[in-house]
Amino acid sequence: KSGFISIIGRPNVGKSTFLNRVIGQKIAIMSDKPQTTRNKVQGVLTSNDSQMIFIDTPGIHKPKHKLGDFMLKVSKNTLREVDVIMFMVNAEQKLGKGDEFILEMLAGNPTPVFLVINKIDQIHPDELIGIIESYKERYDFAEIVPISALQGNNVEDLLTTLTKYL
Ligand code: GDP
Ligand code: MG
Repeated sequence: KSGFISIIGRPNVGKSTFLNRVIGQKIAIMSDKPQTTRNKVQGVLTSNDSQMIFIDTPGIHKPKHKLGDFMLKVSKNTLREVDVIMFMVNAEQKLGKGDEFILEMLAGNPTPVFLVINKIDQIHPDELIGIIESYKERYDFAEIVPISALQGNNVEDLLTTLTKYL
């Protein structure tokens, strides 16, 4: 099984930390350079039975200028072509304007979207149910997966679930 995955989400939710953990320091840092208009491969994770190609989709935020507008369009098209979109959020933060913008942008996109709730090491387990409910109201997610990209909690399970969509 082989497929393309795009990780989107507000700044600082842990996208690079996740990539660093699953693919390795070098690649994710390399692709953390200032945004370009082209979608590019951030890293490839190869295992016995699968290959996951992580694609960077820059400009997934409210555009402030013409170039930003163009980048958003390119990324929007890319998001229709990948196999899975990982929408990553921070368990410590309430659903905010930045998240709303992304969810509105995803409306009508046929690609399965995973809600990845990161930084669960920072919250009490009881809080998780409320967080999940608040996001569920806003979008019909294919999967909802709580993780800690930093500590590695549930990251293997997330990868296994991703494989099912490739
Ligand atoms: P990005 O902007 O989405 O790529 O976010 P980064 O990967 O750069 O992470 C932003 C900050 O959040 C960094 O200081 C990370 O160490 C921290 N971080 C990322 N994942 C986790 C996590 O699971 N738990 C905690 N406590 N911190 C995290
Ligand atoms: Mg980053």
